[in-house]
Amino acid sequence: MPPARVLVRLPNWLGDAIMARPLLYALRAAWPAAKLLGVGPAGPTAPLAGERVLDETVDWPRERAGRAGAMRRARVWSPEVAFVLPGSFSSAWLAWVSGARERVGYRGEARDVLLSVALPRVARGERHLSDEYLDLGARLGLAGVPVPLLTPTAEGEAAAGRVRERAGLAADARYAILGPRSAYGPAREWFAERFVEAGRALVARGLRVLVCGTAGERGACVAVAAGIGAGAVSIAGETTLPALVAVAARARLALCNDSGLAHVAAATGAPTIQIYGSAASGWTAARGPHVRVLHRAPVCSPCWRRTCVIGTRCLDAVRVPWVMRHADQLLAEAG
Ligand code: SF4
Repeated sequence: MPPARVLVRLPNWLGDAIMARPLLYALRAAWPAAKLLGVGPAGPTAPLAGERVLDETVDWPRERAGRAGAMRRARVWSPEVAFVLPGSFSSAWLAWVSGARERVGYRGEARDVLLSVALPRVARGERHLSDEYLDLGARLGLAGVPVPLLTPTAEGEAAAGRVRERAGLAADARYAILGPRSAYGPAREWFAERFVEAGRALVARGLRVLVCGTAGERGACVAVAAGIGAGAVSIAGETTLPALVAVAARARLALCNDSGLAHVAAATGAPTIQIYGSAASGWTAARGPHVRVLHRAPVCSPCWRRTCVIGTRCLDAVRVPWVMRHADQLLAEAG
């Protein structure tokens, strides 16, 4: 008998949240009458809230002190099944506290005792994270289904329109987005001067360039936009996540690091180039209909470092002409 109520502890990072979409759609397809509660940090999980695969979402604050409300909501939800996507002890603890009979997640952090189904995990990079999440569902009989493109909400479209207007773009302007930063750290950030060079090449191809980032990344994004010069502008710190989804969805090209923005853009169907550094692209590469993942992995890769001590050779090996060759192919495909 399908469960009537399900809890999903959603991932903590934007890119991981996007990679959870196949599991959420599999859940919805297999158990259409079930009520699904998603619990996760409000920011990274915002794009999922507009997708109607979840009946309700509850914020999971990063500080422990603020989590009592989410714990109470999970308890009141009375799920029969809980999927635990993050690998933390506290995520499994939430599933336990919810009272769910089936609590499905991966082993680790001494949390096996809190899970009713604790799966062993293969080495990072041997299986894509989306497929790892789907494997959790498969333990309860769920099968993958086609996943639609990530669609902007009406609120996101309106906000994105205002952002583009402030940036001086006409409603029908052709533009590319650049994401020169990564929340993880510099070992995942292609060099600013190469973003500048690639940005200039995109402007020369008739595109406007919007440089995207968070408020904390504004300085770096403004510097990249200034380096590109006429035709480029920074919109860092000006977009909510729903607005960012809408900005990305209309982009002719997204050029990003291994970051949440790359996953968002790829999921909307925007032609996307994702540049890899210290991580394994086999584990977390962006997926979408028009994606190029550029990764030249040296023998030290993947090291998973936030900061490299030997000069980020992995990123240095990604040269602008190689990037632009793929950019031209994607632009030609999109027409
Ligand atoms: S150690 Fe190797 S893989 Fe890691 S960031 Fe440095 S060059 Fe890249």
